[in-house]
Amino acid sequence: MATPIPGAKRAPGRLFLHIQLGEVQTTMGKIVTVDEELCIGCGACAAMCPKKILYVHEKTGKCKVTDENQCDRRRGCEGACPVEAIKVTGKGG
Ligand code: SF4
Ligand code: SF4
Repeated sequence: MATPIPGAKRAPGRLFLHIQLGEVQTTMGKIVTVDEELCIGCGACAAMCPKKILYVHEKTGKCKVTDENQCDRRRGCEGACPVEAIKVTGKGG
């Protein structure tokens, strides 16, 4: 039997892992990952995301992902990010 990872939440077809190390937080999805230490909350990724699944959180000022399963994996957000804080796995069509 596998030991559950603290902070890990399972949803159908998805695994999200939220790690908090002091002030450093990283939200890792299977598809879209944001390094909150690097993110400056500029919103460039959210502004260009065709699926509207990215936004800058009002309180933390960091980029968040709503439903990564809608991601087209064309990586426009990666190209728009000035600090390379957002990463997309796989390749879109
Ligand atoms: S790869 Fe495209 S659809 Fe996916 S989060 Fe980035 S901009 Fe949005
Ligand atoms: S473009 Fe980069 S720095 Fe700007 S909000 Fe998105 S992830 Fe954060």
